[in-house]
Amino acid sequence: MGSSEYDLIIVGGGLGGAALGKAMAEHGRHVLVLEREKRFKDRVRGEIMTPWGVAEARELGLYEPIRAACGTDVRFVDMGFGPRDLIATTPQRLPALAFYHPEMQETVLAAAAASGAEVRRGASVSGIEPGPEPSVLLEQDGWRDDASARLIVAADGRGSGARKWAGFAVQAKPKPFLFAGLLLEEMSMPNDAAFLFFNPDVALLTGITPTGKGRFRVYVGYESRTDNRLQGDENVCRFIEESKRAAPVATFYFGARPSGPLASFPCGDFWVDHPYKHGIALIGDAAGTSDQLLGRGCRSLCEMRRSCGTSYSQMQIGELPLGPMPKSTIATMQSSTRLPAG
Ligand SMILES: Cc1cc2nc3c(=O)[nH]c(=O)nc-3n(C[C@H](O)[C@H](O)[C@H](O)COP(=O)(O)OP(=O)(O)OC[C@H]3O[C@@H](n4cnc5c(N)ncnc54)[C@H](O)[C@@H]3O)c2cc1C
Repeated sequence: MGSSEYDLIIVGGGLGGAALGKAMAEHGRHVLVLEREKRFKDRVRGEIMTPWGVAEARELGLYEPIRAACGTDVRFVDMGFGPRDLIATTPQRLPALAFYHPEMQETVLAAAAASGAEVRRGASVSGIEPGPEPSVLLEQDGWRDDASARLIVAADGRGSGARKWAGFAVQAKPKPFLFAGLLLEEMSMPNDAAFLFFNPDVALLTGITPTGKGRFRVYVGYESRTDNRLQGDENVCRFIEESKRAAPVATFYFGARPSGPLASFPCGDFWVDHPYKHGIALIGDAAGTSDQLLGRGCRSLCEMRRSCGTSYSQMQIGELPLGPMPKSTIATMQSSTRLPAG
């Protein structure tokens, strides 16, 4: 493959990578998105985009496609003090948007392709070479290939291989909690309200949100010092019992049946201080993850993509390898991925 055939290669077709790919292709850039999954499956990820993220998604032209394909408006949030009407009480005057994550990924990646990005599925990146002409090594259908671009953006998620290959150091501020999630079908609860209950007496929290089409995502937050991690099919009953122990939600479970994997993730903040070097930029969870309870993931991806997209375009992307990324872009990426110190 010829050198610098692309303006931009994006590793990972999650919300971050696909949204950036769509925006940059719309700006006329020659974009390649490499996504290792041929078909997305439930990895237990965020499925509620807060109103400030919805506002960004609307500006990006992503809200309507997501909502039409797999989204549902969540107007009310109840944290144990009665329902809060998000339309009436947020500066954006918008509801939250909930979705089934794999369908959202399919939708946003399809939008990137429709905007002119070249999207390769089943293409797994196995190495990255930083430098003035950065390149990726990839494997697809048993073949090895490489491709280079003026800029490579790693949007390959919380376990980012690209981050490691390119030599970025990860900072960590762990918290003594784990966050578990499970998809259920046909719960007996409203379709336009999400619930989040903290119960300090038993050191548990539970959150439940509708994700459309009769599906609901349930989360349980619990202390990580417990020996029994909520993970795998054998712990589904215990997960539901812990959810009920956290809050008076037992009636919500009438008629419900599990419909996906149960997985737990560490809470806390994990980030890269300076998410750009030698032609490689990190975005999304690859650049930083924060406590899932803050709901920053989906929202900050949209925000970050927009600010990066604007800066890249203003600079004419072809000039990027000649100098470091502008401080304003770095600052936005840092503020989107990292909590203030303290
Ligand atoms: C339990 C949990 C609950 C959460 N709840 C919320 C919430 O309520 N609201 C919210 O806003 N956020 C929430 N989040 C955060 C949110 O899910 C993430 O911030 C967001 O999904 C990250 O998107 P991303 O595109 O950066 O990464 P990902 O969605 O992880 O996408 C990365 C993509 O890269 C691909 N990939 C990886 N490696 C390679 C490779 N080598 N080659 C090619 N492709 C590769 C993967 O297949 C994947 O498609 C939650 C997260 C968790 C874990």
